[in-house]
Amino acid sequence: MSVLAQAGGRWRSAAARAVIPCLWRGKYFCSGKEPVENNPVTPMLRHLLYKIKSTGPITVAEYMKEVLTNPAKVWVGEPEEQARCGSCARCQPGGGYYVYRDMLGEQGDFITSPEISQIFGELLGVWFISEWMASGKSAAFQLVELGPGRGTLTGDILRVFSQLGSVLKNCDMSIHLVEVSQKLSEIQALTLTEEKFPLERSAGSPVYMKGITKSGIPVSWYRDLQDVPKGYSFYLAHEFFDVLPVHKFQKTPQGWREVFIDIDPQVSDKLRFVLAPCATPAEVFIQHDETRDHVEVCPEAGVIIQELAQRIALTGGAALIADYGHDGTKTDTFRGFCGHKLHDVLIAPGTADLTADVDFSYLRRMAQGRVASLGPIKQQTFLKNMGIDVRLKVLLDKSAEPSLRQQLLQGYDMLMNPKKMGERFNFFALLPQERLHGRSHQMNARQSEPSPSPVAGFSELAWQ
Ligand code: SAH
Repeated sequence: MSVLAQAGGRWRSAAARAVIPCLWRGKYFCSGKEPVENNPVTPMLRHLLYKIKSTGPITVAEYMKEVLTNPAKVWVGEPEEQARCGSCARCQPGGGYYVYRDMLGEQGDFITSPEISQIFGELLGVWFISEWMASGKSAAFQLVELGPGRGTLTGDILRVFSQLGSVLKNCDMSIHLVEVSQKLSEIQALTLTEEKFPLERSAGSPVYMKGITKSGIPVSWYRDLQDVPKGYSFYLAHEFFDVLPVHKFQKTPQGWREVFIDIDPQVSDKLRFVLAPCATPAEVFIQHDETRDHVEVCPEAGVIIQELAQRIALTGGAALIADYGHDGTKTDTFRGFCGHKLHDVLIAPGTADLTADVDFSYLRRMAQGRVASLGPIKQQTFLKNMGIDVRLKVLLDKSAEPSLRQQLLQGYDMLMNPKKMGERFNFFALLPQERLHGRSHQMNARQSEPSPSPVAGFSELAWQ
């Protein structure tokens, strides 16, 4: 990030970076060069201008939270006139980007692996069954997905569970979806239940919706992981951690300074980056031996990982996390996406997705040794180990339709090609310590105890 430094004690502007076009959310972009005429005053921008005028510049984390998941209706009149009622005609549902829209797929803003190919979800379904078997075939388990999008991934996993019904027979399963989006939760319900059974709704309750999937499995919706019942669970988070709010810091001669968002003094309806004049509380999340000159930290990701680690250590199961990211090496990765194009993060907030690469080294640290972690490994390696080539061949052999075959091949290329998603996306897992190191590790038992089986995906899949 280039920084236009001013005299100490004043907010400083930080701006101007390059634009790289791409189709999925795997590349970098930062705000800076958009002409003013392309900066429509969206309801969310009005809301933010009002907020900043009232209480001063906001952190990037607060900006992301407001822009992506603010559930409220926002004021669309003049900031000075706002009565803060939230229910009059001039308070319109211009809230968070994720709350009221379906942004996935060709018609949307970005595309994700489960939306590209059914094989992706099928292989993840096989992963969960493989882990369930390796950890002793418990009589019951919960499948918990964080940020399930359109429900496509869980739908594909459940199809595999049905196909392998003889393996899972007598196992009591339930599905738990953690989702803040009103719109997407409706789409998830449609995908998973096909309206075969009526839904039970309870807007004010932590379990805000309940239903039965088309294959007869109970499914519940929550806004917060904390509300999901504790019990033997498999957790899944695909392209979820990258939308959680990050704090951004720039190293300066005076020490770390947090990046904030302020109103541009030259253009009244425009936002700009500034640096805080002094240290801010989120600085505690930066490592003492940090060598980069710009870092992004995501405390919310840390809280979620701690919760997952605690649950897995206590009751067993596993968490599989897939996202684009790095192992504590990258710097400025905050970027926006709109209509499959990179988008200036400060322009027309509420109309584009905002995202930052996941720092897997931070996730590993936040597990605090309570559980074992594996990865990150490249998507290409993970899917290869899970047998993507065999699955592709089976599907190609079964499909005579040329357009279907082409779709399968294109999907495979998108997922596996190192220049596309193959190398940008990573897989990371949390597992009980004894799953990797055997009981002897914890209990100091006899050396002759059989060593635990390898974890599929992180090494080649082998049915035990
Ligand atoms: N996993 C899906 C969707 C990824 S988009 C896929 O790969 O296709 C991010 C998802 O996370 C959306 O469903 C969004 O509504 C949800 N989300 C964003 N912030 C969230 C939060 N704080 N808590 C729960 N879900 C959230």
